[in-house]
Amino acid sequence: MQVRVTDVKRWVGREETLHFREAWPALVHERAEGPVRDPAEVTVVVRNTGGALVADLRGEAQMWVVCARCLTPFWLTVPFAAVEEFREEPGPYESDQDYYRYQGDHIDLDPIVADLVAVAAPLAPLCHPDCQGLCPVCGANRNETACGCERPADPRWEALTRWRPEPDPAEGARPARKTEHPRKD
Ligand SMILES: [Zn+2]
Ligand SMILES: [Zn+2]
Repeated sequence: MQVRVTDVKRWVGREETLHFREAWPALVHERAEGPVRDPAEVTVVVRNTGGALVADLRGEAQMWVVCARCLTPFWLTVPFAAVEEFREEPGPYESDQDYYRYQGDHIDLDPIVADLVAVAAPLAPLCHPDCQGLCPVCGANRNETACGCERPADPRWEALTRWRPEPDPAEGARPARKTEHPRKD
């Protein structure tokens, strides 16, 4: 994804908006954790701020992910966005720079988009907000079948079922003798 900046770099304050709808660059597939489906949808606003060009880009990627609850793979649309600065100067990109370099009439969005897509997928994607997950007993997908298994007691709660409230210390400290009477059963 190359942005032609011939005009925008000529005047401070100038701004241009571009929409990309095309195949993902190879770099995106290289860095993504899983398959990414075409087309790439990216909108970028490039602004000349004087010392630099600032690219405000946002887009969407359709990524093949696995549901964290029921393990079903599905296509998830994941948004991403970033604001990056470009300065016209020679030399390669260095990771300790907080800006990108460009030379000539184009800035290259591929490395930025590839980095954004690489981290865009959520850690625990859900096929549906109320996905019922897999049955812990028989492994059935509970979105598809009601297997009817009894849910086993969660061992984390076991201690709680045995818990009884401690006697109130104030209660114990009270002189008991006064009220102590021999039992008449
Ligand atoms: Zn699911
Ligand atoms: Zn079951």
